[in-house]
Amino acid sequence: MIIVMARGHEAIWWPRIIEPGLSRRAQPEARRPEEETVPVRDEAAKLAGEVAELRHAIHREPEIGLDLPKTQAKVLDALSGLPLEISTGQALSSVTAVLRGARPGPVVLLRGDMDALPVTEETGLPYASAVPGAMHACGHDLHTAMLAGAAKLLSARQADLPGTVIFMFQPGEEGYAGARHMISEGVLDAAGQRPVAAYALHVTSNKLPCGMFSTRPGPMLAAADQITVTVHGRGGHASQPHRAADPIPVAAEMVLALQTLVTRKFDVFDPIVITVGSFHAGTTDNVIPDRARFLATARSYSAASQAALADLVPRLIKGIALSHGLHADVEYAAEYPVTVNDAAEAAFATATIADAFGPERGETAEFPITGAEDFSFVLNEVPGAFVFLGACPPDRDPESAPTNHSALALFDDAALAEGTALYAELALRRLARG
Ligand SMILES: [Zn+2]
Ligand SMILES: [Zn+2]
Repeated sequence: MIIVMARGHEAIWWPRIIEPGLSRRAQPEARRPEEETVPVRDEAAKLAGEVAELRHAIHREPEIGLDLPKTQAKVLDALSGLPLEISTGQALSSVTAVLRGARPGPVVLLRGDMDALPVTEETGLPYASAVPGAMHACGHDLHTAMLAGAAKLLSARQADLPGTVIFMFQPGEEGYAGARHMISEGVLDAAGQRPVAAYALHVTSNKLPCGMFSTRPGPMLAAADQITVTVHGRGGHASQPHRAADPIPVAAEMVLALQTLVTRKFDVFDPIVITVGSFHAGTTDNVIPDRARFLATARSYSAASQAALADLVPRLIKGIALSHGLHADVEYAAEYPVTVNDAAEAAFATATIADAFGPERGETAEFPITGAEDFSFVLNEVPGAFVFLGACPPDRDPESAPTNHSALALFDDAALAEGTALYAELALRRLARG
């Protein structure tokens, strides 16, 4: 009925569904998946009101971590009546929904995370968090609502759907590795065969104008590890340090040595960030304490660098302690792997954005960002792409707007229809490709 693809951009993805050996001109009657239906963006726009309602309800009652019973109930309610196979998690309050199309085809996974942050909201929004100390400051309320919207939109096309879609509603992204838990509970096998591709969207309250998409091939987000160090000394009188074993200068030396490690042991084109974010020792000026303790985060962009950090950091810390006659305990906890977009899937996502929304609506990010994501666990198993979506309100400057995780972060509802549409477009077009 309506052809949604602009002629100038169809070449970006169209040739992939042409039969091998035939040129595009040779088969003008070839069936395009969108030709006989309403454009996805129009359907997403029609759903925007109820998607916003769900988003506001989730925003009002944020939950943190792996156990999000109220959020889970809202998702189950939003999905009720749809032709989905639904299962819920054991170790976490996840929701996995499987939509089987009437036509045979591959499996595609779409992921939306559902958890909030331990932040007290200061936005003054009419639907602001009613839970002190908890806020959807990373916009996961939008992801959940958009994914539910996409499930509804795609369910209406079940009769035409050439394959299966897994909707992964995931708790515990913010430091709880919820994606890893869902993988161990079988989300990747929920349809009976592995997905050929997996996609995640993430809204951002700054940097990108509302409705702008951004992705890139290769590393998209950093690996994040936590380093916990305790330097054991021997306390005493601050006026007689030679009779004690002062852990403070030794720990301070470690903090500086970690920065030297970054510049002397790693390729400058495979960057590392180490930040000591917490340092505690002692009680007053005239007492040498028994111990000093600090915490650091380490960010890296390759599995090789992450492995090298896990080896080099403990060795450096222990060596410095030993050289001063002290002892240090080091815990190097590898938390999230680097999030790596498959080059072909990132190109497919970029082409889908250009074709469905217009080329001016997508950018290829020049660099990865230093944040981390547990969608990395999914991308370690299934090729796919992680895509950012600008949700900065139009009356704010994306360059100076409060960032994700800020108590003042605002995510505009106008992004909801766009994210719902992109989730659906990615699934439809990827399934059509086979
Ligand atoms: Zn976050
Ligand atoms: Zn997030």
